[in-house]
Amino acid sequence: MSVKQHAVRSGPSYWKATGPEPIECPCLEGHVTCEAAVVGAGITGALVSDMLIQSGVDTVLVDRGAVGAGSTAASTGLLLYEIDKPLIELIQHVGERHAVHAYRRGVTAILELEELTSELGPQCDFVRRNALYLASEPLDFIDLTSEHQCRQHFGFNVSLLSAEGLKTLCGLQAHGALYSTGDAEVNPYSLTHSLVTRAQKNGLRAFAETRVIQTDDVAGGVKLQTDAGLIEAKQVVFATGYFAAPILSSASAELLTSYVVTSQPLPRIDRWPDDCLIWETADPYFYLRRTADGRAMIGGEDTPYSKDHQDDQLLSEKAERLAKRFRTMFPGSDFQPEYVWGGTFAETKDGLPFIGRAVGHDRIYHALGYGGNGITFSMIAARLIRDLILRRPNDDADVFRFGR
Ligand SMILES: Cc1cc2nc3c(=O)[nH]c(=O)nc-3n(C[C@H](O)[C@H](O)[C@H](O)COP(=O)(O)OP(=O)(O)OC[C@H]3O[C@@H](n4cnc5c(N)ncnc54)[C@H](O)[C@@H]3O)c2cc1C
Repeated sequence: MSVKQHAVRSGPSYWKATGPEPIECPCLEGHVTCEAAVVGAGITGALVSDMLIQSGVDTVLVDRGAVGAGSTAASTGLLLYEIDKPLIELIQHVGERHAVHAYRRGVTAILELEELTSELGPQCDFVRRNALYLASEPLDFIDLTSEHQCRQHFGFNVSLLSAEGLKTLCGLQAHGALYSTGDAEVNPYSLTHSLVTRAQKNGLRAFAETRVIQTDDVAGGVKLQTDAGLIEAKQVVFATGYFAAPILSSASAELLTSYVVTSQPLPRIDRWPDDCLIWETADPYFYLRRTADGRAMIGGEDTPYSKDHQDDQLLSEKAERLAKRFRTMFPGSDFQPEYVWGGTFAETKDGLPFIGRAVGHDRIYHALGYGGNGITFSMIAARLIRDLILRRPNDDADVFRFGR
């Protein structure tokens, strides 16, 4: 099969501008064989490759561009265990067992990322953060009250704040909020680079500027035709992010564009409790985090087409609206936009990612961390795909499988 692809982000990424130098990888020319080929060197492909190499699987990683330059460079790097669908709603979609499993798995995926980044080093900027989930409308507070009861019932550490309670905590104005522990933030671009660098030291063969143009099942494996070479692998993992959308009708994900603005460094803002992650019940939601160098990174204002980020006029209008929203939330703050970008984003019907064996192909796997929690999903995908390849059992398989 061969696929037409378009860019997944536009505008300068703060992570790329301030991050590590691109990793030097050759372009694949000629013929290589391996046990596992991973297509896509974003955060997902980097996690999968590192995990496979750690497990002794001879692995080749290829990317049509540079390491981490796809959606990973557009991500805001919030690590939330609470997915875009509240637990109470997710239970209605997928049943209690799978919904609670997905939420608990989010908590452990963040723990796994914490352990991983402590091995890789401080450049990944992993920081534990609380999360404040604001009620945008008065009626939303009723939903938050039910969500609070539900999450408490299943053992999650979360407090419910009334509008008054929120004001007392930090002075922010909303119709109430959930305040939870268990979340974190990371620099997704540095993390991806650190993972690929470590995996290369441990034997990963990584190729950049190497586009897979044709995939064929053959006896005992899969053949990947690239622009200038050929890979013969026993198993193939597609970690191609939103580039994969055209071939994945079974994932039935809705593609849109989301926008991000990163400010110049700001002084500490008193109303922002513990520099926590902030988001809200409105759809699309406004969300924000701090960066390691004291900037505010804010996002939202989603529009319904996947290529909207290519429209410069729209990009600057969205940036203006986001900045205005920040100044309203924190009056007196001197928010000066420095980096503005937009990227393709996707939502699945139940809010969960699709990870697992491709329907009808025994040796091909897809790792699609669709949704606002893409990076936590990538961590889940890395373990799950490693276990599928090594024929080990894994409790996540059923929850995130294709065709569910
Ligand atoms: C604006 C925005 C904000 C976000 N914020 C967050 C957040 O706060 N927290 C969070 O968890 N998630 C967030 N996400 C989602 C997160 O960024 C993605 O889930 C994640 O980056 C996906 O990583 P990936 O490695 O799967 O995809 P990508 O980073 O896109 O990597 C896929 C790679 O595949 C390569 N590729 C594609 N096709 C081929 C081919 N044919 N041959 C070879 N290579 C190929 C591409 O070049 C690319 O490098 C956000 C996304 C956006 C757009």
